[in-house]
Amino acid sequence: MKATVDEDLCIGCELCVDTCPQIFEMQDDGFSHVMVEPIPPEQEDCVVEAVEICPVTAISVE
Ligand code: SF4
Repeated sequence: MKATVDEDLCIGCELCVDTCPQIFEMQDDGFSHVMVEPIPPEQEDCVVEAVEICPVTAISVE
């Protein structure tokens, strides 16, 4: 699994970081970034949770 954050959509709410802190990290640009690629299998559930919790559907997975 690979995750990406669309910076044109992200509003920097940090919900994905709270949900999945080992994968997402807020950076100085005010957006969340995916820090791990590919997503380790044991982290896939929380990434899916982050996708679902993101209020602007900025996170996509493939
Ligand atoms: S939950 Fe969505 S909008 Fe909020 S920081 Fe993460 S990617 Fe950005």
